[in-house]
Amino acid sequence: MRPAAPWRNPIINLLPPSHCLSCGAQVDAATCVDNKEDDKPASGDVTVCLYCGHIMAFAEDLSLRELTNEEAREVAGDKRILAIQRARRKQYDS
Ligand SMILES: [Zn+2]
Repeated sequence: MRPAAPWRNPIINLLPPSHCLSCGAQVDAATCVDNKEDDKPASGDVTVCLYCGHIMAFAEDLSLRELTNEEAREVAGDKRILAIQRARRKQYDS
């Protein structure tokens, strides 16, 4: 029997409650696209709001902050973020 695909059983990391800086949705958990157990969110990691698609980063206290201009340039066209946006639109905009 093949092991379940990681996206079918994601590892959910609980976070201190915060709010999306664009839509205001409460964010209290995150899933790493690499789905590694020891890959918890850390300061400077990039995240995507699943409700509106806004791209942000985690601050020191794991609240959400806007990307710096340099970070925005670094993630522009990132295939993982594009895949998240496609999946999000399919799930939430249909
Ligand atoms: Zn949002």
